[in-house]
Amino acid sequence: MSDKSQAEKPKVWSDILQSGWKETVESWGWQPLHGGKRGYYIGGKCPYCHDDMSRTIELVETIFEGAKPPPEYVWVQCNCKVAHPPHNAGEGCGQGAEISGPRFRV
Ligand SMILES: [Zn+2]
Ligand SMILES: [Zn+2]
Repeated sequence: MSDKSQAEKPKVWSDILQSGWKETVESWGWQPLHGGKRGYYIGGKCPYCHDDMSRTIELVETIFEGAKPPPEYVWVQCNCKVAHPPHNAGEGCGQGAEISGPRFRV
């Protein structure tokens, strides 16, 4: 039995927030959506599992309320496509935090 390095194993799913996770995700900054959509996007390599993750918020305009301002805080969770045991692929690595919302004016 050959035991390869730990680095080849996927990270274990964990919802215990790693220190610095939230701060790193927050530091990526929100980007306005393109293509005529109202909303914001944030994404990068998850600080815990190092897979691609992203979060999009769409601001829906209603006839009665008009355009809503972006939320002050947004729950962002790793949504990578890699399986982190014991969870299946597509369920992320468990990391998630409430970060500051976009500070742009709509
Ligand atoms: Zn991952
Ligand atoms: Zn992750």
